[in-house]
Amino acid sequence: MLAKQGWRILSNPVSLIARLFKARYFPACFFWEAELGDAPSFSWRSILQGRPVLKAGVQWHVGDGNNINIWCDKWIPSCPQYRIQKPPNTNLEVVADLIDARARVWNTLKIRDLLPTKATLLHKGYTGDTDCLLCPATFEDRAHIFCKCPTAQTILSAPPFNLQASLLPRLNFIEWMLEQAINLKHDTFEKLLMILWALWKNRNNKFWDGCAQTSTDIVFSSFSWLDEFRKARHDAAAKPVKMQKKTWKPDPEKRWKLNVDGSFLPNQTKGGLGGVLRDGDGCFKATFTQPVHHVDSAKQVELLAIKEGWQLLQSLKVQSVVIESNCLEVTLDIENQRYDLIDYSAIIDDIRMTMVCFPGVQICFAPRTCNAVAYRLASIAFDDNYTSVWIDKVPECILDVLQSDCNQPT
Ligand SMILES: [Zn+2]
Repeated sequence: MLAKQGWRILSNPVSLIARLFKARYFPACFFWEAELGDAPSFSWRSILQGRPVLKAGVQWHVGDGNNINIWCDKWIPSCPQYRIQKPPNTNLEVVADLIDARARVWNTLKIRDLLPTKATLLHKGYTGDTDCLLCPATFEDRAHIFCKCPTAQTILSAPPFNLQASLLPRLNFIEWMLEQAINLKHDTFEKLLMILWALWKNRNNKFWDGCAQTSTDIVFSSFSWLDEFRKARHDAAAKPVKMQKKTWKPDPEKRWKLNVDGSFLPNQTKGGLGGVLRDGDGCFKATFTQPVHHVDSAKQVELLAIKEGWQLLQSLKVQSVVIESNCLEVTLDIENQRYDLIDYSAIIDDIRMTMVCFPGVQICFAPRTCNAVAYRLASIAFDDNYTSVWIDKVPECILDVLQSDCNQPT
């Protein structure tokens, strides 16, 4: 148990608890070098007693914080959303910005600056009053807003917190939070964080709009937000979002569809082309496979697959058809007005010339999952060096993928 608390500090150095302990007991050194210090709390004394147990089996790695975004990453396990809200006008981005890299400690000045209480603003040249916005007190700092202001006192003295005994006049807010993080149950600590957020929000509402909530309203609204958040988190965990895989579908306008694909391996000079033609109801009409030689890229082979598909359409005299390729680059290049500047412009030129003669033909991108039959045919052309055209009769080698396309839910 004693070692467990120490482990929490070690394994989650950016957690609220670890940061609070560090700020209080070892701001300028590592956990391993930390000393008991003056007037240690019971918790800290216990943790140090458990440290030798930890030392026996732990390897310790300090990150530099360069890979953690302060505002976007979920890096504070004790916070309800594991992250903090970005204040306006901040240029702090990654956790490393909050660390004094040379001394390897938190830069407390920057961390403190995140909450612009009047006491904090004094360090930034603010010259106005420091009065509390909600009570007659004359110094508004974190300890006052969250612990000493009458609204806060009323809330924290009542269940489930019952913290009246800890709300001392000379309370140090970081130490106080540290004790609550250790002593309160997880559920109660989450509620406390919610209340602190609501107290800060209430203070800002008073500042901007002149209206403040009663302590009862604050408790009621923040607990119901927390309930909603927990429910949403629970629902999200229970029902992982199912990624809908896109599958082949007949054209909604009942035009015929020709799916084409090219197969190519780097370091080889050959490729395979394949295509399958289906009518507006998805019924099989024709396929082709065609090996090609002296090619040097996947893009070239994809373009040749479209060109070869045209040959099939012309031989069958199909006028209105959608050609689908799973190579997005190729479909965009064909549309590009300055295609003459693009690689393989001669093949693109051939395709565009044919398109002029067949205005009912459209070339579209379709994901690989919608192009399984053409992919199979292109692979056969590549592997077996096999040229073929099948009209009306389905070749056995694509029977399974063709049926799989037809059996997809619509
Ligand atoms: Zn006050």
